[in-house]
Amino acid sequence: MDFMFGPEHDNLRQEVRDFVKKELPQPWDGFMGEVDGPEELALDKLVRKKLGRKGWLTFAWPKEYGGGGADHIMQMVLNEELSYNRVPGKDGSGNAFIGPCIIVHGSEEQKKVHVPPIARGEVVWCQGFSEPNAGSDLASLQTAAVKDGDDYVINGTKIWTTFAHYGDWMHLLCRTDPNAEKHKGITYFLLDMKTPGITVKPLLNVADGHIFNQCFFDNVRVPAKNILGQLNRGWYAAATALDFERSSVASSSGARRLLDDSITYLKSQTGTAHAPLDKPMARYKLADLVVQSEAGKVLNYRVGWMQRTGKAPNAEASIAKVFSTELNQRLGRTLMEIIGLKGLHYHKDRKRAPVLGRIEHQFLHSIASTIGSGTSEIQRNVIAWRGLGLPR
Ligand SMILES: Cc1cc2nc3c(=O)[nH]c(=O)nc-3n(C[C@H](O)[C@H](O)[C@H](O)COP(=O)(O)OP(=O)(O)OC[C@H]3O[C@@H](n4cnc5c(N)ncnc54)[C@H](O)[C@@H]3O)c2cc1C
Repeated sequence: MDFMFGPEHDNLRQEVRDFVKKELPQPWDGFMGEVDGPEELALDKLVRKKLGRKGWLTFAWPKEYGGGGADHIMQMVLNEELSYNRVPGKDGSGNAFIGPCIIVHGSEEQKKVHVPPIARGEVVWCQGFSEPNAGSDLASLQTAAVKDGDDYVINGTKIWTTFAHYGDWMHLLCRTDPNAEKHKGITYFLLDMKTPGITVKPLLNVADGHIFNQCFFDNVRVPAKNILGQLNRGWYAAATALDFERSSVASSSGARRLLDDSITYLKSQTGTAHAPLDKPMARYKLADLVVQSEAGKVLNYRVGWMQRTGKAPNAEASIAKVFSTELNQRLGRTLMEIIGLKGLHYHKDRKRAPVLGRIEHQFLHSIASTIGSGTSEIQRNVIAWRGLGLPR
C-alpha cells in the first residue's frame, strides 16, 4: 500500500482552495450543516452549477458521459478537500448515486434526459428507499406500483427522504410483484417530483434542522418508460451505486476541520480565567482525537486504494464508515466536555458561541450519522460476516 500522494493530488487540493477563495463569499466558513433558508438554498444551487462547470460533480464518471474519468484516489482527494473546506452544492444523490446507476442501467432516452442536467448541477435528486417499516431490512418495502395502461400507479409512503422538499426528481424503489420473493418483486423508478399526488411533509432533526421528510404517494402516475433497468430487478440496479465511491472520507475530513477549528479557538483562550487548556485532561483528550482522526483518514484511504486497484471493499468500507461516523460522535461529545457550558450557545446566539456554535451542532447532528447509509450495527454485521467470515 503506497500512501504517498503525487503532484496531481496536491495540485487538486490547491485548486479546491483557490475555488473557495474565488467562488464563495469571503471569509468562507461554510453552512452549519444543512441548507437553511432561501439565501443558503440560492447559494447552494449556484455553487452546484459552478462545481458542475469545473467537472467536479462528475469527476469520476466515464468521459463519454461528460465525466472527468478520474480514478478513485483523485475522487477521494477531491471529496476530502471539498469537505474540509465546507464547500456546499454537492448533490449527493444525483452525482454519487443515481447518475452512475442511469449510466449503467438506463435506456438511451433516460441517459439523454437525465445525465447531462446532473453533470451540470441543474437538478436535485432525492432517494426514496426507506419506509416506516423498511430501513435496515429495505427489501421489506411496501410502497406499491401497479400497472395501468402505459403507466404505473404508486401508493404508499417513503420516510427520511433527504432533500425531498426541494428535490426535482426522486429515484425510488417500489414493490411491483407482491407474490415474488421480497428482493425480486421490486422495481426502480425515476419520478418527477412535480407529479400530482405527492405530498412532502418535513421532519425536523434533533438539531432543529430540516433535511429529511416523509413523502406520501396517492395514486401517483409514473410512465412505464421511467423504469430504471428491468421490471422486478430494481434491487440489483440500486446495488450498482455501491460500486462507485465508497469511502467515508468526507465524514472524517469534516470531523478533522472541526477539530482543527476547535484547537485554534482553545489556544486563543490561553491566559484567560478557567482556560480549558489549563487542564491536562483536556490536552490529552484533544491529542487522542487527533490520533483517531488520523486513523479515520487512513481507513478511508485504504478504501480508495482498494477501489483504485480493482478490489471491492466490503468489510473495509464498513470499517471506515463505522469509525468515521462514530468519531464524529466522540468528537462532538468530547469537545462539549472540554468547552463546557459555553458550547451551548448555538441556538441562542451563534456568533458568540465558540467556533460559531459548531460544537453543539456537531454534538446533536452527529447522532444521525451512525444511522444514515446503513446503521453501525448493520456495518458491524458486514464486518463480522464478510470481513471475519463469522456465521450469520
Ligand atoms: C441523516 C439521515 C438521512 C437519511 N436519508 C435517507 C434518504 O435520503 N433516503 C432514504 O431512503 N433513507 C434515508 N435515511 C434512512 C436510513 O437509510 C435508515 O434510517 C436506515 O437504513 C435505518 O433504518 P431504520 O431507521 O428503519 O431503522 P431500523 O432498520 O428499524 O433499525 C432500528 C435499530 O435496529 C438495528 N437493527 C436493525 N436490523 C438489525 C440487524 N439485522 N442486526 C443488528 N441490528 C439491527 C439498527 O441498527 C437500529 O439500531 C436517512 C437516515 C438518516 C439518519
